[in-house]
Amino acid sequence: MQTRPVWAEISIDRLIHNYHLLRAAAGDAGLIAVVKANAYGHGALACASALASAGAPWLGVTCVEEGIAVRAACDKGRLLDIRILVMRGVWEEEADAAVEHRLTPVVWEIVHVDWLEEAALRRGLPAESVSVHLEIDTGMARQGARFADLPALLDRLGDAKPLFLEAVMTHFHSPELLDGESTSAQLERFDSALEMIATRGFHPRAIHAGNSATLLANAGCVVSLAAKYGASAMVRPGLALYGYAPRFTGQGASAAADDLKPVLGWKTRVVSLRTIEAGESAGYGATFRAKRRSQLALLPVGYADGVNRLLSNRGEVLVRGRRVPIAGRVSMDLTIVDVTDVDGVEIGDEVVLIGEQGAERITAYDLADLADTIPYEVLCNISDRVRRVTIDSSEDHA
Ligand SMILES: *Cc1c(COP(=O)(O)O)cnc(C)c1O
Repeated sequence: MQTRPVWAEISIDRLIHNYHLLRAAAGDAGLIAVVKANAYGHGALACASALASAGAPWLGVTCVEEGIAVRAACDKGRLLDIRILVMRGVWEEEADAAVEHRLTPVVWEIVHVDWLEEAALRRGLPAESVSVHLEIDTGMARQGARFADLPALLDRLGDAKPLFLEAVMTHFHSPELLDGESTSAQLERFDSALEMIATRGFHPRAIHAGNSATLLANAGCVVSLAAKYGASAMVRPGLALYGYAPRFTGQGASAAADDLKPVLGWKTRVVSLRTIEAGESAGYGATFRAKRRSQLALLPVGYADGVNRLLSNRGEVLVRGRRVPIAGRVSMDLTIVDVTDVDGVEIGDEVVLIGEQGAERITAYDLADLADTIPYEVLCNISDRVRRVTIDSSEDHA
């Protein structure tokens, strides 16, 4: 049992609100709800089963281990039809489990096909029983088949009888730039690859591309490309599901971006209080020095919980509805805040690291800006020892 006064509250209602908002904004494109990396730190099992209950047909995970856990959570909730996309591809040791747990791997290397075919044959599976999604590298140079390697890969895929090419996908490198150029160059390359795939007799049922930014600004491009090949279109939002819109450059993003609601609140409590005199210091390296008689509150949360050390002497938290500054360096397990300007602070007071209190609010963007990073990293870095508590849902998603 976890009893430490540090926790993250996950609002399932807000998650589902965001899901429905995004589904509407996506128009004719379907959604692959991305729950990789423990649902961006929100708790993959609760989020996955809530999204599947809300009607999400597809969930996206990073690896087979994540996929197995998500599959088990969905099976427990009798969400047996949910499809699970393993977005980072497969590794040799993962192939058997991918097939056994009915996960759908992204493939782009010939060895992916080899490993999956062997796993399917070991299990005696019939033709077309293992669906795969082929990724095309249209400019990320990260995952995906290069155009020049596509013919050989398609030949190999055509020979791998238990495998079935269900969908073709790509990923955009700058979907938040709404200049109409960076993404359209990738769409053109994607189109050429799709044409080659069709010419060789493959007719994938679905085509998917892009992320939250694509969904909110460019879903129509994916829809029209898919229509050209008689396939259904999907986009793969992650961050927006958790309530954070991308920061777009340029005009044209859907107004839905303004209605997203942050799903995660990160909280702790004041566990100790002291008064120090002007001139006294606080924390490692004595980097905070009191300019006046100051009241300091101790929080039992530190960088081992995911509080970025760059927030030392820069970050803020909410206490009694007021923003108060972090005093001194963030320690591994502890952070000191200066509550001199807040009346009546007591041991046990609830403290907000991310979320709302009174009229004040701190977002993952606020922390990301101060720590020179992105909200994705802020959320993913909230460590496992911070317990996740799902709130405000009538169903049991544990
Ligand atoms: C993480 C990821 C997404 C989701 O991206 P967001 O920016 O969080 O919406 C979509 N597609 C792929 C391939 C990803 O790796």
